[in-house]
Amino acid sequence: MIETSSSLILIQVICILCFAGTIAWTVMVIPMRVAPSASWRFALANFCVLLGMLLYTQRTHEPSYLHWLVADNIILVGFCFLRWGAQRLYHLKSSHQFDITLVLVSIGSMLLAKPQNSSSAYLMIILSLAAAVCFFMLAKDHYVAFKKNFTAFATYWLVIPILIIGIMFLARACILILYPEKVATYAAFNTEESVPILWVYIVLILLVNILIIGNTINRLVVKIMTLANKDTLTGLWNRNALQSKLALEHARWLRDKVSYSVILIDLDHFKQINDVHGHTAGDEVLKIAAKQLNSITREIDYLCRYGGEEFVLILPLTSEQKALCVAKKLQLALAKVNFEWQGTPIAIEASIGFSTINESLPAEALLQLADKAMYEAKASGRNCIKSANPALNDKF
Ligand code: GH3
Ligand code: MG
Ligand code: MG
Repeated sequence: MIETSSSLILIQVICILCFAGTIAWTVMVIPMRVAPSASWRFALANFCVLLGMLLYTQRTHEPSYLHWLVADNIILVGFCFLRWGAQRLYHLKSSHQFDITLVLVSIGSMLLAKPQNSSSAYLMIILSLAAAVCFFMLAKDHYVAFKKNFTAFATYWLVIPILIIGIMFLARACILILYPEKVATYAAFNTEESVPILWVYIVLILLVNILIIGNTINRLVVKIMTLANKDTLTGLWNRNALQSKLALEHARWLRDKVSYSVILIDLDHFKQINDVHGHTAGDEVLKIAAKQLNSITREIDYLCRYGGEEFVLILPLTSEQKALCVAKKLQLALAKVNFEWQGTPIAIEASIGFSTINESLPAEALLQLADKAMYEAKASGRNCIKSANPALNDKF
């Protein structure tokens, strides 16, 4: 049982914070549906710490597996939920196997000591080491996720607080190994000396919850921005996104003078597919065409749905000759599609125009030239490729 009133008040504050955390994250799941698969794990993380803390308050001088071993490991499971939530949030590979092994090793090691006051230093060393591993791995997960979306500077600043928490747990384990007599300060909860460490816990719980709330909001914003730039039918970038990408590529061209190209692909007689087979068949053709075109693009390319049955492919670091090769590959990819609608085969063909940047061109003109070349391809009988550069057209 808690013996000093100041530590009792602090434990109550910790419990209130964890309770509030549990409720807040549950509200995120139901009814708000904000990152639900991550949020319910964060709710459980807070709940486990709350449960562990409540069990701590019931400790007496009597040995008790429930108030020592179970309490410690429930808190550890809470830290694991924190990690699993972050992995869900950032679509990272799950680490269930590693974390469950960690908890089992912690339980196994704790079983070697009697669950009572005289073993508190040993038990706290085990918990602190396991918690340190958990937070170091959590920092690693955040590093992997953040470095994709943020600058190196921002990544370090976002990961450092989590790393510090891991270091604090490690430091506590080291202090208890080297100075077991400091157990009243670093391992106990019911003494006057434990008051500073309880304050540290309060700060940590607040810090962790603020961090994960910030990360969840960040994910939400990224998701909304991505949706605003995506075409719902095909999943490709939309016209909005195309404008900004084109401006970016042009700025790069002005700086580095490494040419880029754009290819405009317009499906042939698409209206006829709609008229003969229906709008749903037309939608399916658009989806398949988009998937097929996307399958041959590089990571750095940018494929957009420009309009109804028109697609634009931006090719960074691509010369005229290379753009022609890509256009041929696109044509071949569409020819290979074996699409049937209610037993009737439908061929997917396209007229393709492309243009490559040169000294005299602004960015908008490049797209207009590709469009003009595409109309030339239409005029030349469709299902063919035309370059905006007439000299090149004579060669193929
Ligand atoms: P061309 O060979 O000259 O390009 O002829 P086309 O029939 O492909 O081109 P046209 O511009 O005459 O018709 C395009 C059609 O695409 C008209 C429009 O109803 C249809 N369309 C536009 N957006 C969608 C869509 O999201 N789904 C479906 N199913 N059809 C669409
Ligand atoms: Mg068209
Ligand atoms: Mg068309």
